[in-house]
Amino acid sequence: MTTPVPQPGIMDIALYESGQSKVEGVAEVIKLSSNENPRGPSPRAIEAFRATADRLHRYPSTDHAELRTAIGEVHGLDPARIICGVGSDEIINLLCQAYAGPGDEVLQTEHGFSMYRISALAAGASSVSVPERERTTDIDALLAGVTERTKIVFIANPNNPTGTMIGGNALARLAAGLPDHVILVLDGAYAEFVEGYDGGASLVDLHPNVVMTRTFSKLYGLGGLRIGWGYAQKDVIDVLNRIRGPFNLSETQLAAAEAAIRDRDYAADCLAENARLRTWLARALAEMGVPSDTSCANFILARFADRDEAVACDAFLKARGLIVRQVAGYGLPSCLRITIGEERACRLVAEAVRDFLAERRGP
Ligand SMILES: *Cc1c(COP(=O)(O)O)cnc(C)c1O
Repeated sequence: MTTPVPQPGIMDIALYESGQSKVEGVAEVIKLSSNENPRGPSPRAIEAFRATADRLHRYPSTDHAELRTAIGEVHGLDPARIICGVGSDEIINLLCQAYAGPGDEVLQTEHGFSMYRISALAAGASSVSVPERERTTDIDALLAGVTERTKIVFIANPNNPTGTMIGGNALARLAAGLPDHVILVLDGAYAEFVEGYDGGASLVDLHPNVVMTRTFSKLYGLGGLRIGWGYAQKDVIDVLNRIRGPFNLSETQLAAAEAAIRDRDYAADCLAENARLRTWLARALAEMGVPSDTSCANFILARFADRDEAVACDAFLKARGLIVRQVAGYGLPSCLRITIGEERACRLVAEAVRDFLAERRGP
């Protein structure tokens, strides 16, 4: 007997590694490994979630009209050109499935998000990565990396795990420089954290081959519920809707997401607190000799002397119940990605890193 053989590419997929949430032998942990909102979702989202409990026997809406309307109102976008998915991961997947296949290339940058590669391989395409410049997306490297086999270019802006971003002029140059047959996906998972940034929506309006993806998992604190969305010109949205599962989102997901995005005051509070604590933590670590690039998101990428020091610091933090993220898998072995938690968590991290360095580097 032989095992059935899957489609080409699938066995090349390395399983996605999610942020750890437990430490053996430590009862109380603080999870700073998945860029979650430390306060959780808006109380209104929780209320909306509960209110769906008596309708669980009913199939959900297939067109997500109410959620798309809410997103459109908040962001000033045309709801007809929005598609909602099971996290933005599903939108990334649908894009690869619809536009890339065997013989095609999907382009990303060296420290780009790992789901791009997973979705490309799952579609039978190959994943190609180009260098970044000082942990920042390099437009010229991306443009130089395009071949006639390239079907999709993915960049996250701001990027995870680097926290860096490129500005509007660079984005416009990338969009204008790509051939028409290449889709540019602007992953805006952290776009909300950048004041005045539209996540690339205006470029979507200008180019039929630009797509923006967004999520409820980060700022809105709904990572556990799985809701994301995409914005593109009508033709692309029509393509994606053909392969989207008609009931991909439950009423519970839809209702919670709508309540979350309509609670602007809660979102504004979370943003202000994130910005304040991010500056504080980055400064505190830098003063100890652990620098980071200016982060545009809800985490910082702390740079240690080398891989050994980063791994040892990670273990030291874990022993105190502080779970951060090693990012060697993203080509950043001497770094740790630390989600901005609540004030107490930030203080505990700074204290722990200080104690660790005193032991390791000496006074
Ligand atoms: C967290 C994250 C996502 C969002 O994932 P969801 O599937 O919406 O939870 C997408 N892209 C990047 C770069 C992320 O960090």
